Amino acid sequence: MEIGALQETMRATYGDRDTARGRDGTFRWLTEEVGELARALRTGDRANLEHEFGDVLAWLASLANLEGVDLERAAARYAVGCPRCGHLPCACEPR
Ligand SMILES: [Zn+2]
Repeated sequence: MEIGALQETMRATYGDRDTARGRDGTFRWLTEEVGELARALRTGDRANLEHEFGDVLAWLASLANLEGVDLERAAARYAVGCPRCGHLPCACEPR
């Protein structure tokens, strides 16, 4: 699935609810899911890890829909390598 298609599916599936909840509530849900991803990383449960990555992506897409951000365009920033140095792989100082 392409990220733009995911965003469109999220809009069709949850767009009304996302709008009713609003940006701040949706952002809180995203951060909660990031916390669940952190726990899944700690436990090393592979099946749960994939589930949590999916939830983070879904909530990120919901938030992008509310903010009118096109994730396909946002991701394009990284499509051809590092957006800072322009190299692939990145040649920046590690941080
Ligand atoms: Zn770089």
